[in-house]
Amino acid sequence: MYRDFGISAQIQEFVEKKEEALEPLFSALEKAKSVNNLKILKAMQDAGLMDHHFHWHTGYAYDDQGRDVTERIYAKVFDTQDALVRPGIASGTHAITLMLTGLLRPGDHLLCITGTPYDTLLGVIGTRVKNGSTLIELGVEYEEIPMIDRAFNLHRIQEAIKENTKVLYLQRSQGYSFRETFSLEQLKEVIAFAKAIKPDIIVALDNCYGEFTQEKEPTSYGVDIMAGSLIKNPGGGLTLSGGYVVGREDLVLLCAHKLTSPSLGKEVGGTFGITRTLLQGLFFAPTVVTHALRSALLFAKVFSELGYAIKPGVEDKREDIIQAIMLKDPKKVLAFCEEVQKSSPVDSHLTPVPWAMPGYDAEVIMAAGTFVQGASIELSADAPMREPYAVYVQGALLYEQAKLCVMKILQRFEQMQEDPLF
Ligand SMILES: *Cc1c(COP(=O)(O)O)cnc(C)c1O
Repeated sequence: MYRDFGISAQIQEFVEKKEEALEPLFSALEKAKSVNNLKILKAMQDAGLMDHHFHWHTGYAYDDQGRDVTERIYAKVFDTQDALVRPGIASGTHAITLMLTGLLRPGDHLLCITGTPYDTLLGVIGTRVKNGSTLIELGVEYEEIPMIDRAFNLHRIQEAIKENTKVLYLQRSQGYSFRETFSLEQLKEVIAFAKAIKPDIIVALDNCYGEFTQEKEPTSYGVDIMAGSLIKNPGGGLTLSGGYVVGREDLVLLCAHKLTSPSLGKEVGGTFGITRTLLQGLFFAPTVVTHALRSALLFAKVFSELGYAIKPGVEDKREDIIQAIMLKDPKKVLAFCEEVQKSSPVDSHLTPVPWAMPGYDAEVIMAAGTFVQGASIELSADAPMREPYAVYVQGALLYEQAKLCVMKILQRFEQMQEDPLF
């Protein structure tokens, strides 16, 4: 079949050799997958999920039992008191915005301890942008502390926590920065450290891309509230749209006040028949995440052996599904993303081009030939067109697609005659 895709025998052999060497790392992913699969099955049984929960409601949807059961299942799976899981949460950014605006009031201090947050949040917090609605313009004080390699800067965190420090904010995934992620053990330690200084500090976390990569979630390690996107890991590739916020009941309710109204909270808002694919997607999610992690490992192995810097390293523990590859060359970034697009089941004949996406400060090229628009649990690659020209590849509903994609990129690089490696 690879010949049908124009792949040479030499490239196939090269990639399959790397693949063989990855077998022990592939097998190591199975344990977390099984634990998460069973956890989700148990949550669905315990919540009493029934066929009628997949049906429609209209108007205020007070009696949308599908919505309520979905939120009970999410709370159980994420080991939290409560959850807000809605198709009307437009994206991960929206879910994180609900979390931050739900928690923070004028005069409060927001302290981020994982360096500069994901690009789209800069217009939410207001470090680089003014739009009349940023947290800073609304009177929130903001401060960020970068990590030192893989470690939290405890000294600076201790200095920074003040009387009005309401929220300690962390981003689990590297996003578009070429940094390491932290482990859940490190997370537990830094939360204990911060709570020893200020017991009532609220720990809020951006969990985008992190779900089901480990046996447990950050909320089992002391995080009070966290948010993520349903078209990434927990949607399993089937969920059509939405975001979630899970955590302590009182805090989730504050976020619901922002989503609907302080007098309505979680009691309204229809799910319009999407609970079926939302929950079926969750049911598949740990398996799909395993495909994504295997794919990331193959990209890591092949490109590191060709001499490119990568993050995380092949042997590193993975806390998200992103693989960063430092291509250092805008032409290679474009070629890489074009081949990702050409490897897709949908829109494979289109050519991605860099554009000024809302929320990002450099032009961004995004390759995503996906069933759900922009769903980055499906094989996709993003790269801000700026130094150091790193590409971020993530997802794959099927490992086989990612494997083909790796071969296509190598073939293309060879044609560009910049990598006389074969
Ligand atoms: C994807 C992502 C977000 C939110 O992005 P959306 O495109 O709005 O869903 C936030 N933080 C991180 C780390 C992400 O990866």
